[in-house]
Amino acid sequence: MAQMPTYEVYAIKYASHVRKMADNFIGGDPHDGPGPIDYFVWAIKGNGRVWVVDTGFDAAEGKKRGRIVDRDCGDALKLVGIDHTQVEEVIISHFHYDHCGSHHLFPKAKFHVQEKEMQYATGPCMCMPALRGPFTAKDITTMVDRVFEDRIIFHNGDAEIAPGITVHHVGGHTMGLQMVRVWTQTGWLVLAADASHMYANMEQGRPFPIVYNVFDMLRGHQRAYELAGSPKNVVPGHDPLVLQRYPAPKPELKGIVCRLDLGPNNW
Ligand SMILES: [Zn+2]
Repeated sequence: MAQMPTYEVYAIKYASHVRKMADNFIGGDPHDGPGPIDYFVWAIKGNGRVWVVDTGFDAAEGKKRGRIVDRDCGDALKLVGIDHTQVEEVIISHFHYDHCGSHHLFPKAKFHVQEKEMQYATGPCMCMPALRGPFTAKDITTMVDRVFEDRIIFHNGDAEIAPGITVHHVGGHTMGLQMVRVWTQTGWLVLAADASHMYANMEQGRPFPIVYNVFDMLRGHQRAYELAGSPKNVVPGHDPLVLQRYPAPKPELKGIVCRLDLGPNNW
């Protein structure tokens, strides 16, 4: 423990989607109001190294799906001083289009993925439009290409990526969804990704409607809290509140980038 480095962790918004709050919960929402979501890539820096968590989608994919793309994933990472062409390790939470696109931006990277996610994205579940919808075939064939290029590091459950950085399989939203836990100056921080899209999903035990296994999704909410040093150190995957609650690294980046490792200053 004494040898474990502390890491800086950034959430960087690259896109958004205007929708109703009812769209974010199975069974809808009693308040018939707006419930927009943000799309993030996350970056971990420390000990002279960099890890990127998820690679977003590009403008063409955003247009196809009616999402507003503010910047591509490469430009998003430049905002925190990361040159995407030099990134060597990427952790992919799951293979949905909004988490594993932008293929050409990471020519040097290896990708940490869960075995079950590859199984899910290349197996019989993809014959079912209801499960296939959030996947883009090109993302998946690119992942398969990377297997043959020795650029995939498979994990089966929990695994250590580096001292103080671990991945944790939770499933639920997809068969192979994994969260990332990082040691920071404010203790253990959990990047829940789509284990919980919004704060309300995990805080209230209300599942998001895109789901492979509801029980695993609900258990994933609990697991996120168990793994974090405090409930305020669990970061949901798509909630616009994240950018309001955590401090921006520079005033001009407010509303675009926040430093998760510093803890929330507005909660
Ligand atoms: Zn997502």
